[in-house]
Amino acid sequence: MKLAIMAGLRLGMICGAEVIDVTAALPWPHDADPLTAGWWRRLCLDLELAAPALTAASVDPAAPRTALRDARLLAPAVNPSKIVAAASNYREHVAEMHQVQERTLGRVEPWMMDFDVFLKAPSSIAGPRDDIVLPPDQRGNEIHHEAELVAIVGAGGKDIPAEEALDRVAGYTIGLDITVRSKADRSRRKSYDTFSPLGPWLVTRDEAGDPADMVIELERNGVTRQRVATRDMLVPVQEIVAYASRIMTLLPGDVIFTGAPPGVGPIEPGDSLRCRISRLGELEVGVR
Ligand code: MN
Repeated sequence: MKLAIMAGLRLGMICGAEVIDVTAALPWPHDADPLTAGWWRRLCLDLELAAPALTAASVDPAAPRTALRDARLLAPAVNPSKIVAAASNYREHVAEMHQVQERTLGRVEPWMMDFDVFLKAPSSIAGPRDDIVLPPDQRGNEIHHEAELVAIVGAGGKDIPAEEALDRVAGYTIGLDITVRSKADRSRRKSYDTFSPLGPWLVTRDEAGDPADMVIELERNGVTRQRVATRDMLVPVQEIVAYASRIMTLLPGDVIFTGAPPGVGPIEPGDSLRCRISRLGELEVGVR
């Protein structure tokens, strides 16, 4: 299934060029309040329980349907407890960061060249129809695109064995980890409002297939800037989930960025960023 969040936090299922409102088929109460939105985290947890009713609703001729091009889609993540993000997860990206840090920091920080996870503020999430807003107080600094495969946590848990980790994921979406290059903590440089565009929808894990068999591509203004195979991750998705869960309990609906491919670079107001990932779709956002 491809599940989208629509205006009013309605739940949509993508069927061809249409999005079908399947909210009424949820087996538990729906709540349009984004401050609670427990129905969405419940759906991430109990996707398999809800799937038959949602699928039946999607073929009901009476279900409300909208052409995709007219639908105002929101990020497929509602009020997650956290955004976990992987750093230094592709060899060529780690190599390019030596030059980026020499240019933007005047030195290389060796500790930042090792794989690890960090947190971004959930309030930085933006939808597939939103622009990235560059903060005025960062005009002197480079602000970079990082196009990433994003996992949305399903059952989650603590101390998840790597062999079980992919079963604890609800599905995948496309994300941009927008980043100020400056001398500051990652959590601050990457947490400005709109710095985590997600979308255009959640592709459930059964339909998304192997997360190590995808290609991530990003075009800036029609020019390819990033292109990588996810099999080149230094730490694969199941190991990221296992590692993060040894530190913090992963809760249903949590968002996990899996690391930047090589080819990061500055974005400017007026830019258009188009990111594609195999079997997931395409996320296109503007910059202002
Ligand atoms: Mn990143």
